[in-house]
Amino acid sequence: MKHLLVCSWVIFTSSGFAWQAGAAKADITPTESVPLAGYGGKTRMSQRVEHPIWLKALALKDDAGATSVLVTADLVGLSDKMIAVIAKNALEKHGVIRERLILNTSHNHSCPVTEDVLWLYYEFTPEEAAAKDRYTAMVYAKYDEVIGEAIANVAPAELAFEQGLAGVAVNRRRSRGPESRKLGNQVDQDVPVITVKSGNELKAVVFGYSCHTTALGGLSINGDYAGFAQLELEKSFPGSVAMFVQNCGGDANPLPRIRGKDVEATELAAMYGRILAEAVRQVIAGTMKPLGGPIRAAMGETELELQPGIPLEELKQRLPNLSGMPKREFEHFIRQYETLGSPPDRVKYPVQVWQFGPDLTFIALTGETVVDYSLKFKGAYGWNNTWICGYNNDLLSYVPSLRVLKEGGYEGVTGMFEYGHRAPYTDTVEERITTKVEELVKATAK
Ligand SMILES: [Zn+2]
Repeated sequence: MKHLLVCSWVIFTSSGFAWQAGAAKADITPTESVPLAGYGGKTRMSQRVEHPIWLKALALKDDAGATSVLVTADLVGLSDKMIAVIAKNALEKHGVIRERLILNTSHNHSCPVTEDVLWLYYEFTPEEAAAKDRYTAMVYAKYDEVIGEAIANVAPAELAFEQGLAGVAVNRRRSRGPESRKLGNQVDQDVPVITVKSGNELKAVVFGYSCHTTALGGLSINGDYAGFAQLELEKSFPGSVAMFVQNCGGDANPLPRIRGKDVEATELAAMYGRILAEAVRQVIAGTMKPLGGPIRAAMGETELELQPGIPLEELKQRLPNLSGMPKREFEHFIRQYETLGSPPDRVKYPVQVWQFGPDLTFIALTGETVVDYSLKFKGAYGWNNTWICGYNNDLLSYVPSLRVLKEGGYEGVTGMFEYGHRAPYTDTVEERITTKVEELVKATAK
């Protein structure tokens, strides 16, 4: 008899793990005109709000008592400086250890600039810089608030996972003239979905997609297609928190796009949002696999090496002919020669893995990760039980695969200066990341 009881308990935990989950959202819509993020060139000051933008958090507490928090944001990205502030508060005020805190951003290009994110892009007047600083201070406070609220909201819940498909993402490297058409059409149109339910009530839905949030580029504050998708889902499931995770959309755009005609562009972005939301709704309406725990979390760091930079003499020689962002980039490299001896030859690259019981491997990469990483790790660890997202931690740079690096172009080579890096990565980039992911997946496996 005793044995039978033990047996039935084991069966119960394998299909209905005892989760405690809490979700929360915090409005980060600016209350004044602020510089908009994501595109270089002339400073764009916001003129109106299309819809509010948000930070959203999901706190998951397992029966071992560990609390893991995922925060998503309608922001273009975070910087090391921002991560340090947010993670320190999460630890000191809410007890969340670093490997149990994942900070994803949607890579929204219709949000305000914060702190030093993409700092080489912009040249602000003192008034614009002050508006940016006021907004940044508000964002820090809201991160603190949303993490605390999600943890305070934890209550018994059931989690489930499944994936759908949405056809919005196009490999944007093929959209750059006749020569680019020979490039591959790699995209990941999977829409991974985690639901958090209490009985029949949907408390939160976390969904991901691999595609730049660049359907819009006007002067309004909004969450781009991902913002529209979240709005749509929260309308479908009143009282729920819908959270968008940017996956590996480094080389994907929502296409076609409309530029210069705001009303038409906004309608198209809203339609892309509805398509993505519909994919999520269909997953929720279907059969989803129960998602067990506990979450085994690991975080590690590798280094990505950079190719040699431009020699100091050449930088100085070319500087007088430059203006705008290229001028700021060259001045930055000259400063690095003068203060550090040379621009750094490598960058730090953090990787996080959350293993949900036996059911899902959640891999969180850093920076603007291209789609090859999503396809590669799903191929390695399972197409039906692996979720790979980029755009966590520092926005860092584009993170090309070896293929993209060798093909060259913006995501492989020419985009590196904009992030303050002296040169493209060396051809060890993919291998370095793969080795670290393998190590952490192994460390979190049962
Ligand atoms: Zn980008």
